Amino acid sequence: QQPAIGTRNRTLGILNQYHLSAKKSLGQNFLDDLQVLEGIVSAADVTDQDDVVEIGPGIGALTEQLAQRAHQVLAFEIDQNLIPVLAETLADYQNVTIINQDFLQANVPAILQHELDRQHRLKAVANLPYYITKPILMNFLKGAVHFETIVLMMQKEVANRLVAQPHSHDYGALSVMTHYLYRVEIALEVNKHSFIPAPKVDSAVVKLTPQDERPEVAYSQTAFFSFVHGCFMHRRKTLWNNLQSIFDKQPATKTTMQQVLATMGIAPSVRPQALSVEQFITLTNEFHKVGL
Ligand code: SAM
Repeated sequence: QQPAIGTRNRTLGILNQYHLSAKKSLGQNFLDDLQVLEGIVSAADVTDQDDVVEIGPGIGALTEQLAQRAHQVLAFEIDQNLIPVLAETLADYQNVTIINQDFLQANVPAILQHELDRQHRLKAVANLPYYITKPILMNFLKGAVHFETIVLMMQKEVANRLVAQPHSHDYGALSVMTHYLYRVEIALEVNKHSFIPAPKVDSAVVKLTPQDERPEVAYSQTAFFSFVHGCFMHRRKTLWNNLQSIFDKQPATKTTMQQVLATMGIAPSVRPQALSVEQFITLTNEFHKVGL
């Protein structure tokens, strides 16, 4: 019986055996800390009732922990060189399927439909490649697939933005969009030295759980997100300034905007960071009502 992939010696042994050096360009930082790996899996509360989608299995450290608990694991790995490695390191696990595709380019709904039985809960778990944390988050926010739980290791700086509350330095469009769809918590803070090689930045594991109920936005979700982006376009400027860039500077438009803000009791001079998620939703709906 081999030690777990995520133990330091086994990881070093695998890297050595296959002459692998971590590719910076693909965000390869392999976890070699069993406690952290177990922390991730327990944050996701993975059981045999779950099918788990993993992004970037690497040499399989997290995949192995998932496979020991889940019904099925479907992992997307972009690096072709890692495919034969994974075939060996995960040879004992019949419930793992590796898809050699770029997660951001893959037709994930179609692949899931083809590979999974749809009788199990769907969860997403990953130690993310940090160079594409934001596009991957946007993918989850667009929500082409419904996951019961999403647990992601990411840069602490991005994690802080996801959990940020109004008025705080880190609160921005990403916080608003995330809170609109998910309850967010930091499950674990992770030391650089839990990875080989150690990344330059600190890390944290974030858990996202879909909100049970979310208020309707009058426009599409995409339009709501781009409105929120527009409101934060110039964070140091006032909400009023940002709104003028979103809409236009015609006197009639200005008057309508002023009326909406007055009805909502929002001073035009506030900074966008002062608005709660609910206020952003109401604001976009009120603008919609008056035809803006
Ligand atoms: N899961 C492993 C672990 O925890 O040790 C490796 C995590 S490493 C931070 C990120 C992994 O994502 C690497 O294996 C990398 O090759 C892979 N990757 C990078 N870009 C990707 C993409 N666009 N789609 C799928 N996998 C990608």
